[in-house]
Amino acid sequence: MKLTFWGTSHGLPEKGRYCTCTMLEVGDNIYFIDAGAPLADIMVNHDIPYERVKAIFITHAHLDHSSGLPVFIGMQKWFKRDCDTGYYLPDEFLYNGLHPFFTDRPEESNTKIHPHVYQKGVFYDDGVIQVEAIPTQHMSNINRLTYAFKVTAGDKSLIFTGDLSDEFQDFPEVASKENFDAVVCELTHFSIESAIPKLNAAKTKKMIFNHVRDDKIALLKESNDKLNFSYTITNDGDIIEV
Ligand SMILES: [Zn+2]
Ligand SMILES: [Zn+2]
Repeated sequence: MKLTFWGTSHGLPEKGRYCTCTMLEVGDNIYFIDAGAPLADIMVNHDIPYERVKAIFITHAHLDHSSGLPVFIGMQKWFKRDCDTGYYLPDEFLYNGLHPFFTDRPEESNTKIHPHVYQKGVFYDDGVIQVEAIPTQHMSNINRLTYAFKVTAGDKSLIFTGDLSDEFQDFPEVASKENFDAVVCELTHFSIESAIPKLNAAKTKKMIFNHVRDDKIALLKESNDKLNFSYTITNDGDIIEV
């Protein structure tokens, strides 16, 4: 499985960093986790075929994870009509917000693309990858749904944390119970100090940080002597084979 980190910034774009968007390639299939980067622009600049995109999974409805969707949907509706891509959304708010883009003039456009609202548990399995939604508490203060994902493809399994809470108590427990090939963890919302025990307990071959913020990168590096693992801090365009 090949991961390409098209957007690695925290809630705001930074110089050289788009907001969060990660591409998974498994064989010929392409999947995206979050679409906070200008995804349609990335598709054209990097010659990524729309037809290979099987599904897009959004961890939560914040704009830095979803704002690339409208133009991407427009491209698939009007200009890439062979596409058959599933859109997996975390709540009705985002579903309703995107509804006009999906339903615009159905008699003239691609009607094969559809949004779905997923729920916790395994919600996607196309025989190539399986995706399980694990609830987090990133927006629990306003009763909104947010998720981490466990992604399984053949004998590979990964965790994408999405955004977490300040206390890091919602870092997925399964990370310390099962063996993973990679954990892709955000690096913005939590205190590094409170996260260290759980990060150290994670059973993963690779620890990868995305959704990064400069002050948290500095704090993480200051804590290097307390960490029992090595890690990668991603930049836009980075490719990691898992
Ligand atoms: Zn975010
Ligand atoms: Zn967020």
